[in-house]
Amino acid sequence: MATFGSLSDRLTAALANLRGKGVLTASDVDGTVREIRRALLDADVNLDVVKAFTAKVRERALGADLSKALNPAQQVVQIVNEELVGILGGQQRRLEFAKQPPTVIMLAGLQGAGKTTLAGKLAKWLENDGHTPLLVAADLQRPNAVQQLQVVGEQAGATVFAPEPGNGVGDPVRVAKDAVRFARDKQHDVVIIDTAGRLGVDAELMKQAANIRKATDPDEVLFVIDAMIGQDAVATAKAFQDGVDFTGVVLTKLDGDARGGAALSVASITGRPIVFASTGEKLEDFEPFHPDRMASRILD
Ligand code: GDP
Repeated sequence: MATFGSLSDRLTAALANLRGKGVLTASDVDGTVREIRRALLDADVNLDVVKAFTAKVRERALGADLSKALNPAQQVVQIVNEELVGILGGQQRRLEFAKQPPTVIMLAGLQGAGKTTLAGKLAKWLENDGHTPLLVAADLQRPNAVQQLQVVGEQAGATVFAPEPGNGVGDPVRVAKDAVRFARDKQHDVVIIDTAGRLGVDAELMKQAANIRKATDPDEVLFVIDAMIGQDAVATAKAFQDGVDFTGVVLTKLDGDARGGAALSVASITGRPIVFASTGEKLEDFEPFHPDRMASRILD
């Protein structure tokens, strides 16, 4: 995955340095941990996350009694892998469905994060699994947003619920509520609500998102974050956590070539799992997120 290319190369190199050594000393471990620390920081992984990660790796590696290990280098790789899986949320977290349909999924995030695109991807993925999703245009901030969702909906073959001109235009909370009622009537078992996002965190918009959350009582609130936004990722995630209390994270633009480490910190900082990953502009560039597979790819 391009986003983690450089991080991946550096971690692999740091660990490869241990391979030639039969026995590992504490100073070998310290040297490797230092290199890992630098690689993570250079990839924009949050400082607190890096500190906790490297302290754990060091403690476990030194505690593992490497002098007795059959293959000490392999053991350190294993520890780094496990701790990386931990940062990424541990177990795979599947999408939560309501016991009584419709399941309501609300998307939140900054403008340009990839929410509308994600709405289409999610719809397609759900359809492939036998669901009948309804896409809801509750981003009434951007003039083109409703139309953009309609295009995405058409590509995904999903019905789009948009405000009728003159009826609730400008009130996304009402649109979202009406949409849930419509879904119940028309047998849509999943409702995906696309909400407005601005370039920066915005108090008024956050309140709007919180009101949509309150009015629709979603089963999932997914915070959509562009893996390329760098160091701002953590502050943005915290603001959305305070504002809408999201239940899961979607990482987008993992195909980009920027350092994606900040996005890797989000699960660890917020305690919310990464549920999906988006890896391109096409509808099929999308997959459920598997912490263990991602860790293996990074350490590949
Ligand atoms: P929104 O403002 O959050 O609704 O963001 P959009 O869905 O409109 O996406 C903003 C831009 O990012 C569009 O040009 C999308 O095609 C693009 N985009 C979305 N997801 C991805 C992704 O995973 N990879 C890449 N390369 N581009 C993406």
